[in-house]
Amino acid sequence: MSDTILAIDDLKVEFGGVTVLDIPSFCIREKEFVSLIGPNGSGKSTLLLALNRLLKPVSGRLSFRGNEIASRDDALHYRRRVSMVFQEPLLFDTTVYRNVASGLKIRGMGGEEIRERVTKYLACFNIEHLAHRSARKLSGGESQRASLARAFAMEPEVIFLDEPFSALDPPTRHSLTDDLEKIVRETGITTLMVTHDQSEALRMSDRIAVMQDGKIVQSGSPLAVMNNPVNEFVANFVGMDTILEGKVRRQDDGIVSVDVSGKEIDALGAAAPGDDVYCCIRPENVTIELTDPDDLTSARNVFPAVIRDIFSVGPFLKVVLDCGFTLTSFVTREAFAILDLKEGMRVFASFKATAVHLISLRK
Ligand code: ADP
Ligand code: MG
Repeated sequence: MSDTILAIDDLKVEFGGVTVLDIPSFCIREKEFVSLIGPNGSGKSTLLLALNRLLKPVSGRLSFRGNEIASRDDALHYRRRVSMVFQEPLLFDTTVYRNVASGLKIRGMGGEEIRERVTKYLACFNIEHLAHRSARKLSGGESQRASLARAFAMEPEVIFLDEPFSALDPPTRHSLTDDLEKIVRETGITTLMVTHDQSEALRMSDRIAVMQDGKIVQSGSPLAVMNNPVNEFVANFVGMDTILEGKVRRQDDGIVSVDVSGKEIDALGAAAPGDDVYCCIRPENVTIELTDPDDLTSARNVFPAVIRDIFSVGPFLKVVLDCGFTLTSFVTREAFAILDLKEGMRVFASFKATAVHLISLRK
């Protein structure tokens, strides 16, 4: 494809004779944000290192903007156009300012230009006030901000992020994710990020790639991966929530009304009218009843539905409902028998506004 920025073919990596990466083909398009997810040891970091040319594959080709990176010279040239940020910040024992400036100096950039760049990226990551602090005296979040500022200051064409936030506590992680998202959106930089956080992956990604045992087993839009996992492994790994795409219509007293396929879902959250969102609903929070429960329960969301499919899942039955959008519900065997549920039956599905996990999408 013409807008492919990075492509790999037939990539294999071995450690001590064991194949840990085996990817027949994978590519990243210009300005794309791809999240890489998968269990520990599935090869995510190894893939990033191979894509950075920090690790030598036993076979395979890597092409950047259509040109194969074959020689040492090609690799040197290529490595100037990409940056990587690791889970553990790797900072030099000097000031934050000098850390952010370090890569630019190596490239022989002039003093004035370096000052401008460093100032700009310190501001982007909200660490101007730490410019003259020693990198040794930073908190985890501040160190990671400095690492990100250093990587972005190079203004690379592709940035690789290997679980940059997983060592941070949740509030620090959320504020850093917000800042990163803003910068990625503003610069439109092509990004490949390894993450453990599904909400993060859903919210930021154009595409999610799932790794298992050194292979990419599924790669597709967040909705395709979450709602149509290719196999049981992916289904279990990404969870089994219903994820619906919608647009916020109103926001009233903390209750957000979201238009999903022409129906209105009420959720609790902080989204504004016009925002594109995902509504994630866990099947154990969806109740099925035979009569309209509107005045009987405190559930805010009630939809007439038709039962499309019924599967057995451990101690539950998984009932797939068509409410104008697809919704799944877990029903105990006892409730299933009492309600006498069958495919094609008309029922009412309900869930509380508090059961909807709202994720705002990148604009
Ligand atoms: P992930 O990042 O998905 O957790 P890694 O890419 O770190 O996975 O590791 C993939 C596999 O390669 C694992 O089985 C790991 O033990 C092995 N591995 C990674 N790095 C090395 C190394 N330097 N030497 C030997 N084995 C390694
Ligand atoms: Mg890793």
